Amino acid sequence: MRQTRATCCYCGVGCGVIIESDGQQVLGVKGDPAHPANFGRLCTKGSTLHLSASPVLQQQARALYPEMRTDRNAARTRTTWDASLDAMAQKFADTIARHGPDSVGFYISGQLLTEDYYVFNKLAKGLVGTNNVDTNSRLCMSSAVAGYKQTLGADAPPACYEDIDLADVVFIVGSNTAYAHPILYRRLEAARQANPLMKVIVADPRKTDTAREADLFLPILPGTDVALFNGMLHICLWEDLVDAAYIEAHTEGFAELKQTVRDYTPAYAAQVCGISEQDLVAAARLFGKAKASLSLYCQGLNQSASGTAKNAALINLHLATAQIGKPGAGPFSLTGQPNAMGGREVGGMANLLSAHRDLANPAHRAEIAQLWGIDDVPAKPGKTAVEMFEAVRAGEIKILWIACTNPAQSMPDQKLIREALRKAELVIVQDAYKTTASVDYADILLPATTWSEKEGTVTNSERRITRLQAALDKPGETLHDWEIVIRFARKLEARMGRERTLFPYETTEEIWNEHRESTRGRDLDITGLSFQILEQQGPQQWPYPQGAAGGKKRLYEDGVFPTASGRAKFVNTVYQPVAEPVDARYPFRLTTGRLRDQWHGMSRTGTVAQLFAHQSEPTVVMAAQDMERRFIKAGDLVHVTSRRGSQILTAVAGDDMRPGQAFIGMHWGEEYVSGRGHDGDGSYGVNALTLPAIDPYSKQPELKHAAAKILKA
Ligand code: SF4
Repeated sequence: MRQTRATCCYCGVGCGVIIESDGQQVLGVKGDPAHPANFGRLCTKGSTLHLSASPVLQQQARALYPEMRTDRNAARTRTTWDASLDAMAQKFADTIARHGPDSVGFYISGQLLTEDYYVFNKLAKGLVGTNNVDTNSRLCMSSAVAGYKQTLGADAPPACYEDIDLADVVFIVGSNTAYAHPILYRRLEAARQANPLMKVIVADPRKTDTAREADLFLPILPGTDVALFNGMLHICLWEDLVDAAYIEAHTEGFAELKQTVRDYTPAYAAQVCGISEQDLVAAARLFGKAKASLSLYCQGLNQSASGTAKNAALINLHLATAQIGKPGAGPFSLTGQPNAMGGREVGGMANLLSAHRDLANPAHRAEIAQLWGIDDVPAKPGKTAVEMFEAVRAGEIKILWIACTNPAQSMPDQKLIREALRKAELVIVQDAYKTTASVDYADILLPATTWSEKEGTVTNSERRITRLQAALDKPGETLHDWEIVIRFARKLEARMGRERTLFPYETTEEIWNEHRESTRGRDLDITGLSFQILEQQGPQQWPYPQGAAGGKKRLYEDGVFPTASGRAKFVNTVYQPVAEPVDARYPFRLTTGRLRDQWHGMSRTGTVAQLFAHQSEPTVVMAAQDMERRFIKAGDLVHVTSRRGSQILTAVAGDDMRPGQAFIGMHWGEEYVSGRGHDGDGSYGVNALTLPAIDPYSKQPELKHAAAKILKA
């Protein structure tokens, strides 16, 4: 039996796993005791990874050879790699010649490894000449990115997992950590046991399992986070809990913010948030008086039309109270996907460039053009996720290449997404699974390898890079994602008459080395890190510049920030209500989220029977009073309807909901009916209901709130 080291492919905790295999199939999986993210522990999802890799399930669900159709109304048929990639290269060349490079779009994924991400980004921005490359990380972490950049100057989570052990107060906001990041939550439980004086505050519209165990729970109304943070800062100012010396020495912009938060009196902030004034004051005092306050936050802040302001307002609070850059303190965004961080590092988004560079910065574009050996990187900003599908629907983008993600389930406003997929002249889907809803729309299906078959690197929430080894050979005719990109790129280069390839790589290490060089002198400098070090010394945190003895646990301990002035910047954050307020016709505040044992659209977790023991079917959770008022009994079917679509679901009473609120788990799409595909009944899962409103800075959609009505079916 062979043992290989990798990480769990489910969430941004990035737990290390040891895969037991015979080289052909995975026989077992266990936590890696040497991995600093989990020290051998795994949650229910991670510990069943081997079951999701069973040969029977793989045979049923995996895409194992390329498929293509030339007629939209015909079924795809099996083809060869050469035939599919040649057809793609021909269509790309023709379309670019007729409509320009921006007629092409790439929609990729935080599930990809860093090396996959790097070559996709280079293909779009370096070879095709478009910045239309965005990713499902836009649905996940882009507000956290924008929040960090606006305040601290760089997209770098300043804290680390060890800070959970060292904090006196842990402030969890918009995160059901117990379900979404279970191994970190176990660490928090252990820290509370070791330090009974530690206080945990949870702010969330739902009384989740995380909230139930808090010392202080703030059941805020959806979307009111900025009012909460500004209100806490107001109290800290009044009670002299801010650190004037730190503000003076290390920040700028506080005077303007101080004017703004003057209006966020406890009475006003508590009323906006729908919580008691006493609880608000108690939270501010706990946070401001603690020796070390650590905030853990996730999609409740990010998936919002004011997500950037929410992130910035929380970071304001940390800066004003000097709760940053010291053990046990700091704002700490928990990454949703396993490698959303790696994707950000290589600049795999429509507004970014490699190594945390900005597309809008001419000097940054010139640096990348020089690194890649091209004349220039296009200056025009690319389309972000929602914008990209709107552009496809409008006929501006004609070719859409989707890799390792399932927008026909996960994007908001599924009607828009499906119309776009039907409108595109060519839809390419590159995926390990052939059962996702997006595959139904594929004119070309490119079969890719997946967990346990891939090797390369990923970065977890605490900036820690892990080197993954492949346990299995590539099944069927699958290729690694990076291999597919470079095979295609070389064919396109031939059609474009390019003599020297931009993609000379034969291994992931060669791609990594180029990426590594791109980070030289940047905030995430990893020029001192190599595959050899990662293999011999285990996972390492960035930055890790040349000559360093190791990575950096936490950032900004010296009070110097990566801004032009070296000072952190307060952002003048103002509370904005949700994009779609409730009204008489749509009176429910509908929110969405993860369940404990499922992952995203269930393409992998949905193949493991025991992961349905926690919840076997999609439901809508409502307050008992709302059900009584509508004569709905637990187990009844109800229509949940928003302005965009409708779903029929089983109603469940939950004491975690305030009256007027409802919750639906995000994992289920519509039923797949063999032969009919996914496009039959038009229900499309929860994202039939969500809206495409986006944050003006991060362009992240408001997946966490929509106005809905609920009627007995
Ligand atoms: Fe996997 Fe996340 Fe669970 Fe760790 S906490 S085992 S990374 S799902």
